[in-house]
Amino acid sequence: MSGFCLDINDDQRTLRDWVRGFAEEVVRPAAAEWDEREETPWPVIREAARIGLYGFESLASMHGDPTGLSLQIANEELFRGDAGIGMSLFGTSLAVAGIFSAGTPEQLGEWIPQCFGDADDPAVAAFCVSEPGAGSDVSSLRTRARWDGARDEWVLDGQKAWITNGGIAGVHVVVASVDSALGARGQAAFVVPPGTPGLVGGPKIRKLGLRASHTADVFLDDVRVPGSCLLGGKEKLDARLARARERPRVGAAEGGKGGGTRRQDAMATFELSRPTVAAQALGIARAAHEYAMEYADGRVAFGRPVIENQAIAFALADLRTEIDAVRLLIWRAAWMGATGKPFDAAQGSMSKLRAGELAVTATEKAIQVLGGAGYSREHPVERMYRDAKIYTIFEGTSEIQRLVIARAITGRHIR
Ligand SMILES: Cc1cc2nc3c(=O)[nH]c(=O)nc-3n(C[C@H](O)[C@H](O)[C@H](O)COP(=O)(O)OP(=O)(O)OC[C@H]3O[C@@H](n4cnc5c(N)ncnc54)[C@H](O)[C@@H]3O)c2cc1C
Repeated sequence: MSGFCLDINDDQRTLRDWVRGFAEEVVRPAAAEWDEREETPWPVIREAARIGLYGFESLASMHGDPTGLSLQIANEELFRGDAGIGMSLFGTSLAVAGIFSAGTPEQLGEWIPQCFGDADDPAVAAFCVSEPGAGSDVSSLRTRARWDGARDEWVLDGQKAWITNGGIAGVHVVVASVDSALGARGQAAFVVPPGTPGLVGGPKIRKLGLRASHTADVFLDDVRVPGSCLLGGKEKLDARLARARERPRVGAAEGGKGGGTRRQDAMATFELSRPTVAAQALGIARAAHEYAMEYADGRVAFGRPVIENQAIAFALADLRTEIDAVRLLIWRAAWMGATGKPFDAAQGSMSKLRAGELAVTATEKAIQVLGGAGYSREHPVERMYRDAKIYTIFEGTSEIQRLVIARAITGRHIR
């Protein structure tokens, strides 16, 4: 069944209940502790690996859903439990997506299982694109990849910034520039295998939210990887570079009309992954809304539950309406991706934009509904509020999402 359907099927319901159970019984009770400790929650990752939620097979089966909804359902449920722990578990899928979108079938088979490690001894993986001087503008990467033909090796040098699982990961997927004159079209992705000399992680960055999730700079100094670690292979890269040199540059940041297949491929990849990130933000919004509903029902002021005031009940009604609307945007984009529909209006970006902004407004509103209690660490809405903000920043800021949508619907060079 791959038609658009507004009900979930039995498999999706089973998945939803399984992840929801894990989120409520394992993740949520551990959330405050790992947020406070600002450490990777390895016991939770091990438990998720033990039950099969964290692992290659589980992710593959979610990706195998022809409707596209399973991955979004699982993300919403897990992040409804807690976003910091959720990101510690699903941060690996960023690296997996990088391998999946650029690798050969052999590379997928070799590296994707290694991203997760073994169920007894799980590992995490990192996807390294951003740099100190290149976040939104990914065409300006300064990390270089040089081919050493005599030793059949690629040599990587540079610095990556803000990398989820950076330095603590086994597999690092690193995007580097092979020919800087070509901007984004001169870049390629490389697998850096576990334990490769020259790759070093910086100290864990102390953050506003997602504190359980490890974020760090990654330094690459004369990092040598076998030729086979170039995702897609050298022949394909050489052909792509030759084509790019023949055509004048239309880089990602310039984004003029048209722009060539490579840019369209990259755009399609982003449009595919954005609904998943949006589903994480939706999970936070839903958790905050549910908590506020329950609190407002029990809290009495002026002799009646605060939920009986329109000011409170209408705010909760508006949020619930937004939550349902955003879920439809997410499911539509996921379904379009799974069924190969063209993202002619950047529908993936639409879902990420609205979900990220909803997570911020929903958590802020939840604090307001709780009053002073919402501002204290005794209640989880304070943590949710801190966690939510990242969703208007990473995986493309809200400004970049608007730019992408504007370009898609106008076909013009909007800056
Ligand atoms: C917790 C966390 C985890 C992360 N994980 C990863 C990871 O695993 N891998 C990875 O590669 N990166 C990761 N990042 C990096 C993240 O993707 C970047 O922070 C993000 O893309 C924004 O880049 P920047 O911080 O350099 O902001 P900048 O690009 O410097 O942007 C600054 C401001 O300018 C705006 N702006 C920039 N260009 C335009 C424009 N053309 N039009 C309008 N406005 C514009 C932006 O929207 C933003 O408001 C992570 C970041 C954080 C905070």
